[in-house]
Amino acid sequence: MSHPTLESRKLLNIRALVDEALCFQAIREVRWPDGVVRCPHCHSAQVVKYGTDETHRHRQKYRCKACPCYFDDLTNTVLKGRHQSIVIWVLCLYFMGLNLSNRQIAQELDLNKDVVQKMTYQLRRAVAEQKPKARLGGEVECDEVYVIAGHKGHPSAVMKQGRKGRRNRLKGARGRGTLEGEKPPILGMIQRGGEVAIHMLADVKQKTIAPLIEATIAPGSQVYTDEYNIYDRLTEWGYRHKTVCHSRGEYARDEDGDGFHEVHVNTMEGFWSLLRSWLRPHRGISQENLPLYLGFFEFVHNAKKRGKGLLDSLLPLLLT
Ligand SMILES: [Zn+2]
Repeated sequence: MSHPTLESRKLLNIRALVDEALCFQAIREVRWPDGVVRCPHCHSAQVVKYGTDETHRHRQKYRCKACPCYFDDLTNTVLKGRHQSIVIWVLCLYFMGLNLSNRQIAQELDLNKDVVQKMTYQLRRAVAEQKPKARLGGEVECDEVYVIAGHKGHPSAVMKQGRKGRRNRLKGARGRGTLEGEKPPILGMIQRGGEVAIHMLADVKQKTIAPLIEATIAPGSQVYTDEYNIYDRLTEWGYRHKTVCHSRGEYARDEDGDGFHEVHVNTMEGFWSLLRSWLRPHRGISQENLPLYLGFFEFVHNAKKRGKGLLDSLLPLLLT
């Protein structure tokens, strides 16, 4: 017995389930938390309401008496585009937080994939650029991996390579990654029990990683790495440094003899596995876009929230 196929797109219009008026109300509360609307240009509070947008009737317009100028709820934010409704923007951001691909988001919102690609690019770039810089201290692990991302794009592989004795080295992948190739290196720094910072590197050299490490990790912190020579000068750079010797088959060492195997980079290794899963749904990430994906995931990981809860962190970042 066969059932007639339901056209679920007609049955379920997700966009209609979100209330545009409530969206704008939430946006105003995030943007002006004390309830005082301020001019985005001169920050004056001498502002009067000035009608609403013709197309998006819940989008409030204002006039600043100090500048003088006109603005609205979304002026000077990444959500300012008037081509899509705020409901579409917020749902797009929500789906990005759930790590849907552009193709999946296009399907859920009944939009063209190119339109969605443009929106997610803008949102991802804004998050990557505006996210707070991670500041790490205490016990920090540093490590690097290589992501396949090139012109053809195929980012699903996050790998260790070109170094003897690495557990997750992939067969057939040789040579250290460079930006010129299709395997850009990624430097990761993670505080045990704390935040992570990840950066795409132009190359794997001491002079490339030194400024990143110094800008991220507090001087005097205990830093754990493997024996790779790019980390050789950490003591010189003002850190306490211990290495685990992967090439001797060692993955954790109890150096002070207290029963805890504290010398390891397993927290970083665990993060690489999360990153690998996060990138998997996205096909065709170019090297130009990879830093945006990394920045977005760094923010998501450090926010320690998913789904609706993540919007509570994403919206303030994009609106203030
Ligand atoms: Zn003004």
